[in-house]
Amino acid sequence: MTRLRFAPSPTGALHIGGIRTALYNYLLARKTGGQFILRIEDTDQTRYVPGAEDYIIRSLAWLGLNPDEGPIQGGPFAPYRQSERTAIYHDHAMQLVKSGKAYIAFDTPEELDLMRQRLTDKGISTPKYDASVRDEMVNSLTLSEDEVNRKIADKVPYTVRLLVEPGHGIIIHDKIRGEVIFDSTELDDKILLKADGFPTYHLANVVDDHLMQITDVIRGEEWLPSTAHHVLLYRAFGWIDTMPTFSHLPLILKPNGQGKLSKRDGQKFGFPVFPMAWHSDHIEESIEGFDSYGFEPAAVINFLAFLGWNPGTEQEIFSLEQLIDVFDAERIHKGGARFDYDKALWFNSQYLQHLDYAIVQERLIQYANNENISISDVNVEAVFKLLQPRLHRLKEFFMIGYYFFTDELKYDDTEINKKWNPEAGALLQKLGEALGNIEPFTAENISIVAKELITASGIKMGVIMPLIRASLTGTIQGPDVYEIASLLGSVKTIERFVKMAGWTSVG
Ligand code: GLU
Repeated sequence: MTRLRFAPSPTGALHIGGIRTALYNYLLARKTGGQFILRIEDTDQTRYVPGAEDYIIRSLAWLGLNPDEGPIQGGPFAPYRQSERTAIYHDHAMQLVKSGKAYIAFDTPEELDLMRQRLTDKGISTPKYDASVRDEMVNSLTLSEDEVNRKIADKVPYTVRLLVEPGHGIIIHDKIRGEVIFDSTELDDKILLKADGFPTYHLANVVDDHLMQITDVIRGEEWLPSTAHHVLLYRAFGWIDTMPTFSHLPLILKPNGQGKLSKRDGQKFGFPVFPMAWHSDHIEESIEGFDSYGFEPAAVINFLAFLGWNPGTEQEIFSLEQLIDVFDAERIHKGGARFDYDKALWFNSQYLQHLDYAIVQERLIQYANNENISISDVNVEAVFKLLQPRLHRLKEFFMIGYYFFTDELKYDDTEINKKWNPEAGALLQKLGEALGNIEPFTAENISIVAKELITASGIKMGVIMPLIRASLTGTIQGPDVYEIASLLGSVKTIERFVKMAGWTSVG
């Protein structure tokens, strides 16, 4: 039975790198018939942001990545919020102290600074608390048992540090990167328990992965270096035989491939890098999300699945169910994945083609209300069907199709001036007059009458068609003009043709 977890820290809005990690964990759990667990890693009190946990939970729900166990669902290994498990970490840290795999350290910040200074003076560029200095420091290795107990009784703040033996190789069999080797001499005696009584990420993460019976860890590559300490912890606890497998995901890169996509890049490049919009008073942050940009959650999932993975076929459109079917961790890429916003828009446009109109209608009504657009006189469903192939985001509907909802057209003067001449104007006037007699006012009927008149006039299609379109929409691009005319109805269509007929006085 596989058990995979997504273990975010609620330190702010979750960026899409985090969501991709959640997605891959989810896909592998579902694919293998295992469980997907949400664990909130909130032991760093200094970085805790109220509302961030809720944001993470809402984002997963919006995307349909529903955990089997987690702070909301509960489960056999509850609680799933690390701040509620501090006693467990404390016990485990003490267990390591007892077995000699860890020790208690009382060094003050000043003493630690002095130690670093001493090492720097000796020419050591990255001074660290390790085998070379631990014998000179104030800890349970250098103090007597009585002294240690007295300090603890006197409430002298202390940390618990992992005792790292130098000179050992640590081999990690990463499923994406292959064999990664670390030398324990390079590692510091990592703090496991902090002076505030909270565990560090390393201790809590390993203890929980073990207790929650996690079989596979999939996380971002920034955690690869920490894995060396994690392996040492599994060894120290005697859990090495049930240690999970590790897969470290490649970075998501900026669109130009230059470095990691950061949380600030969304604002810089004008695209979303978070799943949902959020405002936090606590960190004075207001962000946009794929939701507020008008993306379909299924399209976001599809897009993210391909950021660092591919199915090995030409097929690109996959529902979440289909992704579960085809997902194969072996096909996760080693190299960074470049964020391509146009590709995100393309995925979304594909999903828009298949949306159920009932859902669309509800959202369009909401957009219309928000923007004070009156839709009561318009056959919105028919307009939607007409514009659907041109939409990248549902949100663009009232922008692209604005001419159905107002008579105040924004004319593209430059393009119109290029085409307009008095003969064309006269033809538009004639067209307007002829259309009054068409019954029913269908695209087909309009096109028959229009084509006849155009042919008789001798005016080139390349001149008159852009003008017909501009009469109705203001611009020279858009869907079929006869469909537009039919949806606008004869009164508006005629009015707009007549207006364009006298363009010089308009423009
Ligand atoms: N709490 C870590 C994070 O914020 C978890 C890393 C891991 O999955 O081990 O990403």
